[in-house]
Amino acid sequence: MMRNDRALVILSGGQDSTTCLAQAVQMRGAAAVSCITFQYGQRHAREVAVARAVAEHFGVSEHRVIDLAWYSQITNNALLDPATEIHQAEGAACPNTVVDGRNMLFLLVAAIYAKSRDIRDLIIGVSETDYSGYPDCRDVFVKSCNETLNLAMDYPFRVLTPLMGLTKEETWALADSLGVLEYVAEHTLTCYNGVIGAGCGVCPSCELRRRGYEAYRMCRKREESGFRI
Ligand code: ZN
Repeated sequence: MMRNDRALVILSGGQDSTTCLAQAVQMRGAAAVSCITFQYGQRHAREVAVARAVAEHFGVSEHRVIDLAWYSQITNNALLDPATEIHQAEGAACPNTVVDGRNMLFLLVAAIYAKSRDIRDLIIGVSETDYSGYPDCRDVFVKSCNETLNLAMDYPFRVLTPLMGLTKEETWALADSLGVLEYVAEHTLTCYNGVIGAGCGVCPSCELRRRGYEAYRMCRKREESGFRI
């Protein structure tokens, strides 16, 4: 039997999922890679347009946008409700942008779709390192969900999380090693206020992205000048 190298990348058009996509395309070839994007009433419909452009840029074999518009009917969240201000309450485990069950829902829908296409590998750009305590970004959740999906559909899915142990700085380093640092910096959307590239500069997501980027640039500069700690 031929090895099944195909993979489905959950693509939001942000830094992390775009870096995962670049890596998958480099490792497997664009023809073996498909993407799935979810439209779920997030603040910026622009996300979907960005994801489409990213998928096109990397020449993937297929990109599907799946409508989960009903999601905002069952959860209350700043990311889904434009009237709510994004913040992290003093002492709160995570900012009010956490959407309950999001990665589980995404993985379930992605898995159903992947199985119908005979794709076993699901790639999701979550990381438990730098993040703000989102419970479904943790490795223990992803492993458990992987097992549940395999049992639910009697199918050997592999949920791959290339960024799980990486900080934002290391994710920038990975993008650089894949030759897509500039592309990711200029064409992805991570900002909660919908500003592509470097973003609005003030929301928590921009702050995290910028700090990681600056740390990486500093580190690269030191290396280029031959300076070693
Ligand atoms: Zn921002």
